[in-house]
Amino acid sequence: MKTFSGISASPGIAIGKSYLHIEELTKFPSYAIEKHQASSEYQRFRLAVERAIAEIEQLKESAFKELRADEVNMLDTHLLMLSDPDFAEKIEKGIRESLLNVESVLSTIMQDLIGKLKLVKDEYLRERTADFHDVGKRVLNQLLHVQRKSIAQLESDILLVCKDLMPSDAISMDKIKVKGIAMDAGGKTSHTAILARAFEIPAVLGLNELSSQIQNGTMLIIDGNKGKVILEPDDATIAFYTSLQKTHQKREVQLLRLNDLSAETKDGKLIKLLGNIEIPEEVDAVLSHGADGVGLFRSEFLFLRSASLPNEEEQFEAYSRVLKAMGKLPVTIRTLDIGGDKLFRGARAENNPGVGEKNPILGWRAIRFCLSQTELFCTQLRAILRASVYGNLKIMFPLISGIQELKQALEILEQVKADLRKQRKPFNEDVPVGIMIEVPSAALTVDILAKKSAFFSIGTNDLIQYTLAVDRGNEHVAYLYEPLHPALIRLTKRIIDDAHKAGLSVSMCGEMAGDPLYALVLLGLGLDEFSMSSFGIPEVKRIIRSTSITEAEEVIATIMDMSTASEIGAFVKSVMEERFEINYY
Ligand code: PEP
Ligand code: MG
Repeated sequence: MKTFSGISASPGIAIGKSYLHIEELTKFPSYAIEKHQASSEYQRFRLAVERAIAEIEQLKESAFKELRADEVNMLDTHLLMLSDPDFAEKIEKGIRESLLNVESVLSTIMQDLIGKLKLVKDEYLRERTADFHDVGKRVLNQLLHVQRKSIAQLESDILLVCKDLMPSDAISMDKIKVKGIAMDAGGKTSHTAILARAFEIPAVLGLNELSSQIQNGTMLIIDGNKGKVILEPDDATIAFYTSLQKTHQKREVQLLRLNDLSAETKDGKLIKLLGNIEIPEEVDAVLSHGADGVGLFRSEFLFLRSASLPNEEEQFEAYSRVLKAMGKLPVTIRTLDIGGDKLFRGARAENNPGVGEKNPILGWRAIRFCLSQTELFCTQLRAILRASVYGNLKIMFPLISGIQELKQALEILEQVKADLRKQRKPFNEDVPVGIMIEVPSAALTVDILAKKSAFFSIGTNDLIQYTLAVDRGNEHVAYLYEPLHPALIRLTKRIIDDAHKAGLSVSMCGEMAGDPLYALVLLGLGLDEFSMSSFGIPEVKRIIRSTSITEAEEVIATIMDMSTASEIGAFVKSVMEERFEINYY
């Protein structure tokens, strides 16, 4: 038995036999050619490219109805790469100068390009190596008349193990039979991760060496919750995970029955449970988990996913799509939260918040960046406002640290509205505008901010890091990242009490809102809305429906007398295990 740790990219547990899908660059012959053969060798390349283009066009056609906009985009990018005259020129020159067959030249050029890209710091660009690999392999297969290994139609259920999944394989993969994914490469925002989440396939990525240490048909456990893969588990481990999986599945079925019921406590307080999304495609999961709306649309993912900035029309299309899908249910779109640990793609360094800054987390990010890049900010606000006619929109500004910043953002919004009116473009004049509370200075001035805000949403991911002075991404200080620190309990209580005094409701959209362990505490602190990854909604709903505000407030009264996070943590854990049968493994 051997355990590998990676990045938990999509939740859930899968147990079964591995299916090794390794697409090495195909083995190819390497030989010298005569000078006069160079042009016919280049013709072979042209023909192979034509066939590769036809193959992609066919993939687009055959899978068209199921393909999402970004997948069509990806195939279009592959078509662009294949029709790039520079690429063809490189091959032609390579053949002429080396006097080697086209397969050798193509392979050298692709390896060189991929090698260079692998060294790039930017995660998005690094992940584009998969596209080059994909395109190169397609042409090579055409040159050698080799059929591509497909995972589009599988005979039985499998746990897919691979080095990297070619993007075009990922979109055409058999989404019913693939029960889990374990991959050497990839991060949380990679194409495979997004796809796995959209199809609810448990996935662990970034496993480095896993695929080289495993054979086809090896017994495997993929734990997407914890980001672990266990090879050849012993009987006790299989029994443990099987029972965990069964409990989860049983609970999932029971929980989904709660979909049509509201999250109402036994003493009648109605709580709203909403979904967090990063891309429009996640809306289906929000609806299928019985959410009351979208509480956080992290709009920056539209910017992070593409190599160039999405223009007004592209943004308008994405925002409208979400609003239309959600119908009357509210959708809170958060304006661009770039910078800090989220960087723009590519090397647009002069305009790239976070790059070259000493303290990017304390630097030029989110609303600070938008207020200095008004053109970009106005384009986004125009797209959001124009989309407002399609549903129940709310706008939210991230990382507000004081009332001046909020006023500035609101002024820009008013200017954009005035322009739209002048141009007779329809939009909803009364879109509520709220802010995230994720900086202590905002938390302590909620009474002031309430004068200009329609609602608040607590961003615990950042609020914890700024309150406790702990970088949320630094594993060395991760032990200090304590959501139940007395400082945070007090601060959250103050935010909610002050907001309520001003007549405003409070939501929470940080990770803490989706962790069932904290549900009772947050309820006791008076939280009105919880916004989380949609998978978590049914379980939080179950807890809320089986308790009362009185019980939750009693827990808070006990906690308020405690002085450390570990003391509070142990107490909360014991209550949650006993009262709600939550098991932490
Ligand atoms: C947060 O800080 O809690 C939050 C929801 O924003 P993000 O995680 O996108 O920074
Ligand atoms: Mg944040």
